[in-house]
Amino acid sequence: MTGRGYTIAAAAYAALVFLAALALAYNPVAREGAIAPACIANQSASLTSEALAGPGAHWDCTSTSGSVSEIAALVRFDLAEARQLPIVMRTRIGLFDRLELSVVDADGTVRQSIFERDDVKLISNDPMFLADLPEVSETSRAVFMQIKGARHDPTVLRALLFPQDPTLSHGHLLALLGIAVLLGLVIAPVIFDLAFYGALKSEFLLWHAALSLSFALLVLFRSGLVVEFLPLTIEVWRGLLIMGLGLCAFVGAMFTCSFVENDKLDPRLRKWLPRMGVWALIASAIHASAFDFLAPLGGSFHSYALAPVLITFMLAMVDAYRRGSRAIRFQILGWAPLMLAFALQLLTYITPLGLPTDALPMFYLGTLSETTITAIGVADRFFLMRRERDEALIEAIELERLSVRDPLTGLLNRRAIDERFEELHIGGYETFALVDLDHFKKVNDNEGHTTGDRVLQVVARTLNDDAGTIAMRLGGEEFLLMMRGADAEERAERLRQIVSLRVARELPELSQVVTASMGLLVAPRRALPKAAFSDIYSRADMLLYEAKAQGRNRMVSEKLRPFSPRNKNDRRGDAKVA
Ligand code: GH3
Ligand code: MG
Ligand code: MG
Repeated sequence: MTGRGYTIAAAAYAALVFLAALALAYNPVAREGAIAPACIANQSASLTSEALAGPGAHWDCTSTSGSVSEIAALVRFDLAEARQLPIVMRTRIGLFDRLELSVVDADGTVRQSIFERDDVKLISNDPMFLADLPEVSETSRAVFMQIKGARHDPTVLRALLFPQDPTLSHGHLLALLGIAVLLGLVIAPVIFDLAFYGALKSEFLLWHAALSLSFALLVLFRSGLVVEFLPLTIEVWRGLLIMGLGLCAFVGAMFTCSFVENDKLDPRLRKWLPRMGVWALIASAIHASAFDFLAPLGGSFHSYALAPVLITFMLAMVDAYRRGSRAIRFQILGWAPLMLAFALQLLTYITPLGLPTDALPMFYLGTLSETTITAIGVADRFFLMRRERDEALIEAIELERLSVRDPLTGLLNRRAIDERFEELHIGGYETFALVDLDHFKKVNDNEGHTTGDRVLQVVARTLNDDAGTIAMRLGGEEFLLMMRGADAEERAERLRQIVSLRVARELPELSQVVTASMGLLVAPRRALPKAAFSDIYSRADMLLYEAKAQGRNRMVSEKLRPFSPRNKNDRRGDAKVA
């Protein structure tokens, strides 16, 4: 798949995850027949006989949204309007010391069930728990719920009564299915990350895989799905969720650190991001242990403790953005919803705005957007890096090509023949013709060096114009032809003669005829099975010298035959062969 193709696929994938997350945030657990509280007493109310006497009379129900993290919170459900009699109470998970459910009949009879926090039943598609009501009859008038030592407001505020076990409903199964799909989508980038890592050993790919996995863990805990596999108490569940959040913050910091391009982040921020990640883990561990001295903060310790982590993240984003980082754009897009959720949550603690304290669904969506949009960013970066690598490779090949070519004529140079001699010799290139222009100094002297260069270019083109011949420029005005074919000697001689004609035709301004001398050696591989290029060259050079000595503008050749006496006697040629 191309880079663009992958980006489109990744965008489609992100859209899918968003849809799945939205569906889950809607919480499809059936609320049919559910009875909501009529009144929540957020003063330190107690279940006295006056409180039970009649609906409304002794209750101050004016505020049902503020903090109810009191020693005892009291909730009243009226049964007068109920179409079906409730049997179970469901509310949001949170630490508490003691839960009392009381049913009051018209005649004043009270039936009560008392729960410690390990007695309640966690459910698996939502962070909620169930507690059975005492028997409710036709004459029952109200149900009172009193929670002592509630540490998490939604535990009090989100209570509902149900006429049947909500986990037996159709909606519950559908929700489980939705979570399973969501988990699959969240884990999917890991496969890409690892495949990419196989092609490009970059650390950020591993951190992104780790980020996807930590988020999958978070989904597993946050959704409650983990309860299907492990019988957890509220405390353990809460600890796992908090540590999951801390882990996401830590891995997120490490990922950002490795993902932002080398020169696109202030070194101090690059140093502080991992430290903040570690702090997020420590703060989460502290929050998870629920020390008593943190109780007055009503669960907001985590938010305060993570504030510096958030600030460091934001600074890093602003800094990288201003330095023109491409990677950070994806990060910013991905984190935006999460930042918003977190900021909103923080705002509810430090201002009297009365926003809903339960920002978890938003947090949920936000973290999803983080993993998916960064997955697109990771793909983008991968293809960018691969392209850069490929370009570097092409450049290297080009350099390599240039280094074996002579820049003036474009012919192969001495290095090329050193590297390929044996291969070519075995491949049938057994005729070697050394060509040197005659009195070339004079051409330079009379016509100028530039014209001399042009003569060399014409000569190079002429010599290179024969199939079955590899022409090389060994230096100066000296060329080597490596030829194959039975008629190589005739072709070589023809090339030598054509040189004069071609030069005269293409450079008519020349006042002299340019001729060439040639030393030609036919050296079958069988005759010199271990010959090195230097052996062949010195032999051909001798023949060329002979041609020059005989008056130039001619060829002197020699054929080596296997076991020929001359071959045997010539120790110089065999010196390196032996
Ligand atoms: P001979 O017939 O004995 O070979 O005589 P020659 O003048 O050709 O002598 P020699 O081979 O020793 O001299 C080669 C000359 O080629 C020397 C130098 O001025 C010239 N030459 C070498 N390289 C280049 C080049 O790249 N461009 C030009 N224009 N001239 C070159
Ligand atoms: Mg010469
Ligand atoms: Mg020369």
